[in-house]
Amino acid sequence: MTDATYDALIVGAGHNGLACAAYLASGGRKVLVLEAGERPGGLAATREFAEGFRVSAAAHLLNMLSPEVAKELALERHGLAYAARNLKTVVLPGNGRQLVIDGDRLEGASANDQAAFTEFQRRMRRYAKVLNRFCARPFPHLTERRGRDNRLLAKLAWDVRTLGKADMRELLRIGAINIHDVAEEQFENPLLKAALSMDAVLGSHMGPRSPNTVYAYLHRHLNDDGQGPALVKGGMGALGDAFAAAAEAAGATIRYGARIASIDLTDCRAAGVTLADGTNLAAALVVSNADLKSTFQLVGPLNLDAGFVRRVHNFRARGVTAKLHLALDGLPEFRGLNPADAGSRLLAATTMDGIEGAFNHAKYGECSPQPVMEVTIATVHDDSLAPPGKHVLSAVAQYAPYALKAGWRAGRETFMHSCLSQLEALAPGIGEQVIAAELLTPPDLEARFGLRGGHWHHGEIALDQALFTRPVPGANHYATPVPGLYLCGASAHPGGGLLGLAGRNAAKAILAGADAA
Ligand SMILES: Cc1cc2nc3c(=O)[nH]c(=O)nc-3n(C[C@H](O)[C@H](O)[C@H](O)COP(=O)(O)OP(=O)(O)OC[C@H]3O[C@@H](n4cnc5c(N)ncnc54)[C@H](O)[C@@H]3O)c2cc1C
Repeated sequence: MTDATYDALIVGAGHNGLACAAYLASGGRKVLVLEAGERPGGLAATREFAEGFRVSAAAHLLNMLSPEVAKELALERHGLAYAARNLKTVVLPGNGRQLVIDGDRLEGASANDQAAFTEFQRRMRRYAKVLNRFCARPFPHLTERRGRDNRLLAKLAWDVRTLGKADMRELLRIGAINIHDVAEEQFENPLLKAALSMDAVLGSHMGPRSPNTVYAYLHRHLNDDGQGPALVKGGMGALGDAFAAAAEAAGATIRYGARIASIDLTDCRAAGVTLADGTNLAAALVVSNADLKSTFQLVGPLNLDAGFVRRVHNFRARGVTAKLHLALDGLPEFRGLNPADAGSRLLAATTMDGIEGAFNHAKYGECSPQPVMEVTIATVHDDSLAPPGKHVLSAVAQYAPYALKAGWRAGRETFMHSCLSQLEALAPGIGEQVIAAELLTPPDLEARFGLRGGHWHHGEIALDQALFTRPVPGANHYATPVPGLYLCGASAHPGGGLLGLAGRNAAKAILAGADAA
């Protein structure tokens, strides 16, 4: 069947694909979104993993969503609601005194650390605000002399200039070192240093001493209002539903269970797609929410220049993050944790060296025997996710390398055991409360959500893969070397996390008639 009813076909209904669909449809384009899975949202998903127990299956905390996207797409009118906002972060010490980060306020730290933290937050928020201006729009072309690009570049340069001499100098200094050294020189409390390091390394193939960790920290704080993350009511899938409702309200059509087997070219130009069931669909534009490597696999290397194929191959997208889900018979009791804080963002990482030590294993294709974790128990705030009196624990656990040397068949049990042992040390008796457990490894995330390498950001967030170089030269302005084919997912600028900006920027670039640089 040939269908040329649509101006644009979008590969994938992740939140970015749906944002792109909504903006394109609002711009008058006829859009069809084709999603391999049965639900919208991609990694913004809620899933029943044991009878009666539902969990945010990948992303579990909302801390980056662009307020412009949320407002323009009226996500709250389309059903987005919060089970809790402004969550505290609590670093679980195992024994001794815990550290609580509540906005800019610290509990369990010295007056010196409080003063240093207030100043650190002020500075980082200023940097993130400027970075956000670079991220909230398509990045201007650096090498072309187009008036629009030149004006935008001048504006961005002015934004940096407004930081002032001291903050600008400090940005250059800390950008060139790493989060370990920054935290070490400014703070005393090891739990605080560990918390800042976790913000920099979550989802990435990096330890606190890795280069690029300061940039990764700033990226995570892009839309930071200083208030702490939120939990979406009904799990993160409700965010996907809201994006889908917004796209449909704008006029886009979404088809589920529609896996794309190839992106088809006519006269070297993207002209449509073929679904796994053999259906051909034609359109003038194909926009991919799939990650970079998957997208160009769908195009086929023979249709691409060898140099570009090499760049795609070299794009670093080695996932190291696993997701642990526990169905619990009751609320676990964490040592030293005020029960009123059980619904906070809990960090199981007590020192920077502990995080670095956990990362060291990943460098050699091994899982960390003592993983570090970001834990949420959403059922404290949202009783729709589990039967009465029961709870669901969701943990982002690192480091679990995609290409595990021993293979995941052998490694799964071991890593699950390591995670449970860490939790048992923090919440004695939790093991006895477990009714069901599930571990999603990076290969599982790849299989379930179609992201090659199972990487949180579809590819490492690092300066060589950021801003005007993301994802790779030739595909760094949403347009690609294949005319008519665009990227709109986390592989594209400004990268991963639930921002909605890659989708919005891609739509803006397409509506403005973007070509590959
Ligand atoms: C374990 C984990 C935890 C995370 N935790 C957080 C968090 O707490 N907070 C946060 O902000 N971010 C988090 N992230 C990151 C965030 O979830 C992602 O960066 C973001 O969701 C990417 O969105 P996207 O729309 O670009 O892509 P995706 O959500 O990956 O969507 C891509 C879509 O394309 C579809 N697709 C792919 N190939 C095809 C094909 N051939 N045919 C049809 N459809 C196809 C997929 O099925 C999918 O629906 C986490 C990521 C992971 C992996």
